[in-house]
Amino acid sequence: MNDMSPVQTNNLEAFWMPFSANRQFKQAPRMFVGAKDMHYVTADGRQVLDGTAGLWCVNAGHCRPKITEAIQKQAAELDYAPAFQMGHPKAFELASRLVSIAPPGLDHVFYTNSGSESVDTALKIALAYQRVRGEGGRFRLIGRERGYHGVNFGGISVGGIVGNRKMFGTLLTGVDHMRHTHDPARNPYPQGETEHGAELADDLLRIAQLHDPSTIAAVIVEPVAGSTGVLPPPKGYLKRLREICDQHGILLIFDEVITGYGRLGAAFAADHFDVVPDIIVTAKGLTNGVIPMGAVFVRDTIYQAFMQGPEHMIEFAHGYTYSGNPIASAAALATLETYKEEGLFERAKALTPVWAEAIHSLKGARHVIDIRTIGLIGAVELEPIAGQPTKRAFAAFVKAYEKGLLIRTTGDIIALSPPLIIEESQIGEIVDTLKSVLASLD
Ligand code: PMP
Repeated sequence: MNDMSPVQTNNLEAFWMPFSANRQFKQAPRMFVGAKDMHYVTADGRQVLDGTAGLWCVNAGHCRPKITEAIQKQAAELDYAPAFQMGHPKAFELASRLVSIAPPGLDHVFYTNSGSESVDTALKIALAYQRVRGEGGRFRLIGRERGYHGVNFGGISVGGIVGNRKMFGTLLTGVDHMRHTHDPARNPYPQGETEHGAELADDLLRIAQLHDPSTIAAVIVEPVAGSTGVLPPPKGYLKRLREICDQHGILLIFDEVITGYGRLGAAFAADHFDVVPDIIVTAKGLTNGVIPMGAVFVRDTIYQAFMQGPEHMIEFAHGYTYSGNPIASAAALATLETYKEEGLFERAKALTPVWAEAIHSLKGARHVIDIRTIGLIGAVELEPIAGQPTKRAFAAFVKAYEKGLLIRTTGDIIALSPPLIIEESQIGEIVDTLKSVLASLD
C-alpha cells in the first residue's frame, strides 16, 4: 500500500523520522491526513480504526470539538506568556484541577512538554529535594530492567532498554536497575495483575543494602511497563516497593505517562493499585495528545521543603520556555472536562472485562504465545522467527494497517490501547482483524 500521492513534496528525506525505520518507511509511506473519534483517515482515503490511541495518548478520541475550540479561543486571546517570573490564569486553574483528581497528598504540579521531560524533571526534583532536606548524600537513582522512561539522558539512564541506551555513552552515574517482573512461565496469559512475583520488589532492598540505603534518592517504575510489551505488576509488588521506600527514606516515583488519565479505569494507576507514590510523572493523555504537555505531581512535603528551605532553594533551577504554555493549558482543561463530562475513566473501568475477554479470545490464534491485559491495554505476544526478532510483529502491523486497523508493535509484541470512547463492536472489530492478520502471517 502506497499512500504517497497527496504529499506535496517529492523529498521525503528532509524529515528524519523518530523511532522509525526511515529507509523502509520512505519506500512505502503510511500517511494519515485526518482523524475523527475512533478513526484515522489515510492519504488514500481509507478509514483506519485507532487501536492505540495514537501513541497511547488520544484517550478521548480524535478531533473532539471542545478541545479544538478551547485551543482556537486561547490562541486568539493569549498565545504565549513567559513561563518564568510571570503567570497566566489557565496554568493555575489547570494545576488546581489536576491536584483535585490526584491521589491524596500530591498537591502540586510542575509543567513540562513531554513524558521525557516529565521524567527528567521528576528525577531532578528528587535529587534536589534530598539536598534541600539535608540528605545530599542521597544521590543514587534506581530504575528497572525493561522500564521505558522516555529518551532524555535521565530517562535512558534509569530506563532498562538496551537499544535505547547503548549508543549514548556513560549516561548518568549512580544508577542501578531492579529486575523486571515479567515471567510468562509463572504467569501465563494474565488478566490484570499477575499472581506471582511480588518478592521481586525486594530487589530494591538488595540494591539499597548494597550501597547503603542512605545513598538512595529515588526509585522510578512504570506501574504497568507499557512500551516494553505491557507487563502488569505482580499482586502486592507496588505495595512492597512503597514499604521499602518508607522504611529507608527513598522517594517512590510512578511514571504514569501511559497509565495516567484513565487508561486503567481510574484517574491514575496509583488509584487503581491503591499505592500512593511521592511523585507521579504524566504527559500524553493530559492534553489528549493534541498539544505537547506534561505534568509532574509532587507530594506536599516535597514542595514545602523547597518553600521552607534556604532562600536560594526556593527558586528551583529548572523549567522550560513552554512550561504551562497557555494553549497547552487550555487544551488540558478542555481534555479534563471531556473526560469528566463523558465519564471516560468509569467507561474504561466498565469496559475492562469486555476488553480482557475479547483480547484473550486470541489465545490459540496462529503464532500467539502469550496475551496480557489490564485496564484498556492489551498485548499479544508472537513467537519470534528464529534469528529475526520483530519481523513477524512488524508484518502484522503493516497488514493490520492495510486492513484498516492501527496497532503498535514492540519487538515481537503487538500492543493495543484504544481511545477510552471505544464501542464494544469496535473491540470486536479489533479482534476479528487481528485474527485474520495472524492467520495470514508466515
Ligand atoms: N514514560 C513512559 C512510561 C512512556 O510510555 C513514554 C512514551 N511512550 C515516555 C515516558 C516518554 O514520553 P514522550 O515520548 O512524550 O517524551
